[in-house]
Amino acid sequence: MKTDYEVVIIGAGVAGMTAAIYLKRSGISCCLLEREIPGGQINKSSSVQNYPGIMEITGPDLANNIFKQVNNLDIPYKYGNVLEIKVQNDKKIVKTDVEEISTKFIIIATGRISRKLQIANEEKLIGKGISYCALCDANFFKDQIVAVIGGSNAAMEEALYLSKICKKVIIIHRRNEFRADQILVDQVKNTSNIVLEVNAVPISFNSKDDRLSSITLNQNGKTWDLIVDGCFIYIGQVPASQIFKDIIEFDDDGYIIVDEHNCTNVAGIYAAGDIVKKDAYQLITAMSDGVIAAVNCIKNRNN
Ligand SMILES: Cc1cc2nc3c(=O)[nH]c(=O)nc-3n(C[C@H](O)[C@H](O)[C@H](O)COP(=O)(O)OP(=O)(O)OC[C@H]3O[C@@H](n4cnc5c(N)ncnc54)[C@H](O)[C@@H]3O)c2cc1C
Repeated sequence: MKTDYEVVIIGAGVAGMTAAIYLKRSGISCCLLEREIPGGQINKSSSVQNYPGIMEITGPDLANNIFKQVNNLDIPYKYGNVLEIKVQNDKKIVKTDVEEISTKFIIIATGRISRKLQIANEEKLIGKGISYCALCDANFFKDQIVAVIGGSNAAMEEALYLSKICKKVIIIHRRNEFRADQILVDQVKNTSNIVLEVNAVPISFNSKDDRLSSITLNQNGKTWDLIVDGCFIYIGQVPASQIFKDIIEFDDDGYIIVDEHNCTNVAGIYAAGDIVKKDAYQLITAMSDGVIAAVNCIKNRNN
């Protein structure tokens, strides 16, 4: 069977690029397809300090270093927004807004995106006070005042985590009741440096010297500004999986279901990184998935 590549990787985040490096070093022809810039989400981080072996690096520098490895290996990297995949027995077709590519194996590494509040200045202040990842960024706000927006388990868990690092954590929630487990709500209420602002709807983020300085809230009909150093938004994450919905099996949250080999329900189609449900959405877990998916493409290619 003749195909353009043996493996097409959709998404050049860290999971996709790691898979590509392992494939190419094993002599497998592969191609990376990306609709934005190489590196994915980590490009939004101003400082990565938990990547073993590197004391500190900016997200874009880390992404660029991995992309240099991809280029040094002469791995084809193409711009393309993948719109659809088609399965024709052993052959798969990947359709982008630019072209159609045939392949034997596909690795889906399309990651996920944080659900946005979509209020004024949110995009502009990401990485400048606004974050979607307490595990990653809490230490930048050590002994400072931060807000957490949301009322879910994730919002409660991250507020508790932040309360150990920050001076004060203010949870902003648009309702009176939380959508979180009672045990977490109780823990939050019993933590002395966590304050609740309920029935409060964020209207805009405000900045001073190009950093977040306050959040304008509408609370019980009254508008006021909450002064903060940082704000963590937990109103949900959205896996970028919708385009595969007719072919690939998802869980209820839209995460692709894989087996221990990172294989999906369709033979020859693997998924890697944040698109797969996991306990920790981090660089090394995404890369680990990329390695497992690549290694299984290599094994099955030789079968
Ligand atoms: C602000 C921030 C800070 C973080 N800090 C840290 C940290 O310090 N340490 C840490 O370990 N982790 C950190 N993380 C988490 C880490 O970045 C992610 O877990 C990891 O990058 C996920 O990699 P991925 O390759 O699975 O997905 P992504 O990075 O989401 O990459 C997916 C790629 O697929 C592309 N794509 C999606 N759909 C399509 C399509 N249809 N066609 C073509 N391309 C497509 C996207 O454009 C994207 O480039 C942070 C995340 C954020 C947002």
